[in-house]
Amino acid sequence: MAWATILDYDSGMEKRFPNGNLLRLVTGDITSIPADAIVNAANSALAGGGGVDGAIHRAGGPSIMRELDRIRASAGGCPTGSAVATAAGALPARWVFHAVGPVYRDGRRGEAELLASCYRTCLALAEERKAATISFPSISTGAYGYPIEEAAPIALREISAHLESGTGSVREALVVLFSKSDYEIYGLALAGLGGEQLE
Ligand code: ADP
Repeated sequence: MAWATILDYDSGMEKRFPNGNLLRLVTGDITSIPADAIVNAANSALAGGGGVDGAIHRAGGPSIMRELDRIRASAGGCPTGSAVATAAGALPARWVFHAVGPVYRDGRRGEAELLASCYRTCLALAEERKAATISFPSISTGAYGYPIEEAAPIALREISAHLESGTGSVREALVVLFSKSDYEIYGLALAGLGGEQLE
């Protein structure tokens, strides 16, 4: 059941897997693109912040933070490398998955595995809810300082592995890059995985 489709975006870059599943890169604002599930780059306190987190709360409205308040009260927050789900308020989605990426220090403190774990957790949350489409921002590469050249292949490998295995509900994943230069870096990483530039 595809509640929303993100197939209408005609620019960007994509990789289609033999089973028909699709991974697509676009530039834009993740809060304005419909998807069943939108991923947020949150912090472990689930307290809201700047960057994509601020944009999601602004566009989604206060109901998202109210739900996070309840999660915080019962669970105390969310560990790095994991994610929690809320409804999506006024966003063009059913759910927001608030993923807590690692703060990058020197690359030797498990950052790569923690980053990969964010993507895996969100994809598992999507499967539990039978979501068909999911959109991701570039987790950890803003305020958390993860070098985007290192983060891009990790993100795309995890998403690709999930789409390729292909027996679940997720048919399409979108990575929404906030700048042309971020898009180009992800594009190079996707080309390394066999992705194609679109007209
Ligand atoms: P983190 O703390 O995980 O690094 P940030 O929100 O600071 O999270 O940055 C993550 C990425 O999200 C950055 O590349 C940033 O440019 C991008 N970003 C910020 N706002 C948006 C938005 N509205 N849509 C998509 N990406 C966004």
